[in-house]
Amino acid sequence: MEIFDTPAALRAFAFAARAANRKIALVPTMGNLHEGHRSLIRIARPLADEVIVSVFVNPIQFGPNEDYAAYPRTWADDLAACEEEGATAVFHPTVEAMYPEGKPTTYVTETAISPFLCGASRPGHFNGVCTVVTKLFMAALPDVAVFGEKDFQQLAIVKRMVRDLDIPVEIVPAPISREADGLARSSRNRFIPEGMRPQALSLRHALLAAKAAWDGGERDAQALERILRDTVAREAPDGVVDYARVSDAETLVPLTGAIERPALAALAVKVGPPRLIDNIVLGR
Ligand code: AMP
Repeated sequence: MEIFDTPAALRAFAFAARAANRKIALVPTMGNLHEGHRSLIRIARPLADEVIVSVFVNPIQFGPNEDYAAYPRTWADDLAACEEEGATAVFHPTVEAMYPEGKPTTYVTETAISPFLCGASRPGHFNGVCTVVTKLFMAALPDVAVFGEKDFQQLAIVKRMVRDLDIPVEIVPAPISREADGLARSSRNRFIPEGMRPQALSLRHALLAAKAAWDGGERDAQALERILRDTVAREAPDGVVDYARVSDAETLVPLTGAIERPALAALAVKVGPPRLIDNIVLGR
């Protein structure tokens, strides 16, 4: 497994691979790799000859009051995980290597899907995501890139971005990987205070309750959102709901009234310090 720490070094590897007709898959991550990230690498493996995992905590996608400094960095373990899952290269640049001029003054901005959900409470977040993903694409030159449905909005935005900009990368979605009790795996789960895990599970329970109602024929967006809110209020009395929304599964536009197409039920709830997100697609 090769390790690169500058975009130029990775690009040289990618050019050589492409010249040899070797297909490249990219799995972008912020490190602290868990089973969810591993599942992305396993999905990527049969799709390409080279599987590049990037490990980079991207400062420009964090707001001033967010957890950039506290974000867990576990490079040695991440390297071992990439090796175990059969990655052929790891890209682990410093902030200076990615942003030699400091904060960039050129950003990639998606404007239709980004304003809702996480974009509403994290202004600028998806500009940072789109910008770093574009930079990673320019360095890794992938044929395919794998993104988790855990970050459903991010996946939808990246799909739109590659369409809009004619970026020749196939975006492959990966299902949400969960703990045995149903909690969506996340690098931030380690910050859930001991004793608050049952409250953290309220997100999953709320989404399953909405799904049960949907399967029982409920199609009213507000009624489904009420189920999300009521479940979280009941099971997570200390939780602070950022959003509990039913949106169009493609455009992420918030829905009202009768739903006629697949819909995304999505939640963001602060449970202690960490802000947890989870989602489920209704009608898929
Ligand atoms: P992150 O390191 O949190 O930025 O995530 C890197 C990639 O892994 C993104 O495409 C995420 O959507 C994906 N990911 C993170 N957690 C999970 C999970 N529990 N299940 C599936 N994909 C995940």
